[in-house]
Amino acid sequence: MSLDINQIRGLFPVLHQEVHGKPLIYFDNAATTQKPLGVLDALANYYRLDNSNIHRGAHALADRATRYYEETREAVQQFIGAKESAEIIFTKGTTESINLVAKTFGRKFIGSGEEIIISTLEHHSNIVPWQMLCEETGAILKIIPINDAGEIIFEEFEKLLSPKTKLVSIVHASNALGTINPVKKVIEAAHAVGAKVLLDGAQSTSHLEIDVQELDCDFLAFSAHKLYGPTGLGVLYGKREVLEAMPPFLGGGEMIKEVTFEKTTYNDIPFKFEAGTPNIADVIAFKAALDFIKSLGKPAIKAHEDGLLAHANELLNDIKGFIPIGTAAEKVSVLSFNINGMHPFDVGQMLDAKGIAVRTGHHCTQPLMKRFGIEGTVRASFSVYNTKSEIEKLAEGIAQIARFKN
Ligand code: PLP
Repeated sequence: MSLDINQIRGLFPVLHQEVHGKPLIYFDNAATTQKPLGVLDALANYYRLDNSNIHRGAHALADRATRYYEETREAVQQFIGAKESAEIIFTKGTTESINLVAKTFGRKFIGSGEEIIISTLEHHSNIVPWQMLCEETGAILKIIPINDAGEIIFEEFEKLLSPKTKLVSIVHASNALGTINPVKKVIEAAHAVGAKVLLDGAQSTSHLEIDVQELDCDFLAFSAHKLYGPTGLGVLYGKREVLEAMPPFLGGGEMIKEVTFEKTTYNDIPFKFEAGTPNIADVIAFKAALDFIKSLGKPAIKAHEDGLLAHANELLNDIKGFIPIGTAAEKVSVLSFNINGMHPFDVGQMLDAKGIAVRTGHHCTQPLMKRFGIEGTVRASFSVYNTKSEIEKLAEGIAQIARFKN
């Protein structure tokens, strides 16, 4: 079923403005998506009507806020197909979710000489926490190479696997190139040597149907703000038995059962990992974002975005001087490119002058840029509210810019 994009655009007030005297075309969705009215209203309503601290209150507002907060946890559980809502931990974002695993699971279960595998495609947030862990414990970081299309070389991954591998932490869909990794195969191969698998779902969760039980991943990390939800909020999914075996992350209120000066006992999951007053308003508003996605259906969203990507490829590939970066067979709607003879930042500035918002630079994937021998790219990333006519304006703009040097 095709979507009514005009009606969808009506739900996003931010899209209806001019930038530099031109109608805004927002193609920076891989950085963060815009928020629909339901999310904005849920945020305002929480502060207007329900503002209260959760879990401990003995009054109506606290009960209401607690119920809404926990309803989002259940909505996230359904969104990713987790077995139970206790396996959903709220964090600040993908970055914090990965750091949580590094600092708890990593410190406890990955020792000196043992190995962690990541890929060349990783965002810095799935590189640096592991480097920090390796520095601390003497563990070893191994990197899966990629081919020129920007796909992991699976046979090379298999060669890296051994009984020393304790964790494979890999991006599901690349933010810089759009490549969708064959994560099901990766998980099966990693489990065969007894390693756990963390999926960085920061980009995949907004485009692809995710069922963590079907995938059988041990962890999934993602951010609400890339899913039409608020900033400063993320999720760490973990299998119950894995989360229970992990020590807590931060210490403080909420994560304890009982505190004495002699000994503290910790709360059950998920609260063991949610120390302090959480991001209540944003968690509550996130449910509206998930409802928005559910109302459209991920397959319909993906079909629309695939159509946009195909249209962009068709128009842009004909432009003299257009150099696509990352041409994987399986991609989400991310288009990375350079213009021959031009710095990506200059291209971004010129597009901005036309009202077109793209991202330029290394996209927090410096090792990936190095693999391609470039400093950065221009990245246009498409979302459900983008249109084919916006893609045509992008193509016109790029054709004009490319003519300067080609
Ligand atoms: N991983 C990927 C693939 C991303 O695209 C991003 C954000 O761009 C992150 C991790 C980090 O997400 P956050 O900044 O929301 O923690």
